[in-house]
Amino acid sequence: MSSPDIEAIERILVVGAGTMGRQIAMSAALAGYTATVQDINADMLAAAGADLGTWAATRVGKGKLDSDAASQALSRLSYTTNLQEAAGSADFVIEAATERLDIKKEIFATLGSYTPAHAVLASNSSTLGSSKVAEASGRAEQVCNMHFFNPALVMKCVEVVRHDLTSDATVAVTLELARRLGKQPVLINHEIPGFVANRLMGAIQREALALADAGAATIEDIDTTARTALGHPMGPFELMDLVGLDVITFIAEATYAETSDPADAPHPRVQALEATGRLGRKSGSGFYDYGQGGH
Ligand code: NAD
Repeated sequence: MSSPDIEAIERILVVGAGTMGRQIAMSAALAGYTATVQDINADMLAAAGADLGTWAATRVGKGKLDSDAASQALSRLSYTTNLQEAAGSADFVIEAATERLDIKKEIFATLGSYTPAHAVLASNSSTLGSSKVAEASGRAEQVCNMHFFNPALVMKCVEVVRHDLTSDATVAVTLELARRLGKQPVLINHEIPGFVANRLMGAIQREALALADAGAATIEDIDTTARTALGHPMGPFELMDLVGLDVITFIAEATYAETSDPADAPHPRVQALEATGRLGRKSGSGFYDYGQGGH
């Protein structure tokens, strides 16, 4: 086992080519890193490549990205279904696969066996603290959460969460890598369900739902208050619709499973909408309707 070193990081491996993985990989490529995206599903890899090509072309078209920088970044990206091979040359791994512990444990076991000894193994999980996969990797001290926000190419915050065995060197390298990707990292000193951002968001959402349940104000007026009095870019109901009500319920279930605090349990109002297929923006309706012209 050797100590992680930020200057030795050249190749970043992102596991999972979904919503998060593809944009994390592009962030790394834009910052000059060679980035490999690995997924078990070849169709997801193809979709990720096409999606990032379109994203880059749109940015170039709008004059927000230099066309040489875009093509260089795209050329630093590669795609594979072979995890063992991709792991062999990775200096830093960001795992962004499906949110299931059994899947993540298996990935971290493979990473622990096939990555070079200095490689840091980070998980982008929103709800699974890295202590749950650390042992499987065989190098617990080089494992942490590196939690990006959606959309990862836009959102500045990265929560770096250490578990009891994460080394100081791993924390320092992960924070610095986030900075080099143009992000603003924050350090969370120990694992806590929901980390910091989702706990803050959960508290605001709970209060917003309680206010609506009590008939204190309409959801529109609660959202307006959050925007115009508190300066939030979006109201809590608008944000829940954007994130997806199924995702909101999933996060609440995962938090509740860890805390057993009834305040963390999924809210009946959110569950009722979800049960009728109103999942938020992605399904065309949630708390609001996003039909013609939106709300
Ligand atoms: P997604 O469903 O869009 O993508 C997950 C990808 O993982 C899929 O392409 C799937 O084929 C792949 N996958 C499944 N098993 C795999 C395996 N064994 N090896 C390699 N790839 C595998 O999911 P997502 O929304 O991108 O979320 C990924 C991770 O990021 C999760 O841990 C989630 O908690 C976290 N996260 C998500 C968000 C969000 O808003 N979507 C935000 C922050 C963090």
